[in-house]
Amino acid sequence: MPFTLVIHGGAGNITPAIMDSELERQYTQGLKDALDKGYDVLKGSGTALDAVVAAISVLEDNPLFNAGRGSVFTKKGINEMDAAIMDGSNLAAGAVAGVRHIKNPIALAREIMEHSGHVFLSGSGAAEFALNRGMEMTPDEYFFNQSRYDQWVEIRDTNFTQLDHKGDNLKGAVLPNPGHKFGTVGAVACDMMGNIAGGTSTGGMTNKRFGRIGDSPVIGSGTYANNATCAISCTGHGEYFLRAVVAHDISCLMEYRGLSLSDACNVVIKDKLVKMGGEGGLIAVDANNNFDFCFNSAGMYRGMRNSEGKELVAFYGA
Ligand code: ASP
Repeated sequence: MPFTLVIHGGAGNITPAIMDSELERQYTQGLKDALDKGYDVLKGSGTALDAVVAAISVLEDNPLFNAGRGSVFTKKGINEMDAAIMDGSNLAAGAVAGVRHIKNPIALAREIMEHSGHVFLSGSGAAEFALNRGMEMTPDEYFFNQSRYDQWVEIRDTNFTQLDHKGDNLKGAVLPNPGHKFGTVGAVACDMMGNIAGGTSTGGMTNKRFGRIGDSPVIGSGTYANNATCAISCTGHGEYFLRAVVAHDISCLMEYRGLSLSDACNVVIKDKLVKMGGEGGLIAVDANNNFDFCFNSAGMYRGMRNSEGKELVAFYGA
């Protein structure tokens, strides 16, 4: 039976002009590591849900990406993370917002889905639940990264927030502290049983206000999955994705208007969102293993791997 995994590591101003070959290599490797992990789950007859958590956890552990370990700093100089997951086979969902010290927020989102009796927990309530469930916690130092910190110091005394996608020039940056990093992360998958799932994890926007929540953990905006239509994970300027209810809008276009997966993605990302002034993109899959990458920004870190032997990692626009 066929299966498909699609991932992203953030969309934005990603062009060859801001990269060099070493950075390209590192991003390629980071995406491949996540693809391999999720692919192995699917190949071993694992569920789409398991594959999504596996792939996202790898990206959360990689400081290149703005999620988990690599999360950006808020206006208060701390890291507050958001994540969500949804199971398209039964419309179960779990989400978490504004958490600190959680090593893998996507795992906490799944834990909330399966064990809290709720869909969405935030802040200290989410932290208490995580402790009770024995989730892995990490100290502030784990999330500290000089380049993220410098990025925040540049704008902390202003009222500006900064999308992590607004890369200036990454060239010559030496990892693990590259000058600027991109990357909310997400994964969508279709498993051998024909079930689909989607998940997203992020540190949000640099200098975001205390308590600000973006689209990523909001079911229907940044994350959605329904076997009848599609699984979606978004990345971009969350305020626009929230107002456009992007992920569920794509599902609705498929369900009510009969649009194909890629037509529905195009309508929302390249038409509706552009008219609103929203920048970003998404990954999508349906229960027939059709998949799509769609973005209106210069680029999007992205990759896919399926049972047909197709594998792809790309950054830039077509
Ligand atoms: N959508 C995320 C947010 O607004 C940011 C991103 O995709 O990088 O929090």
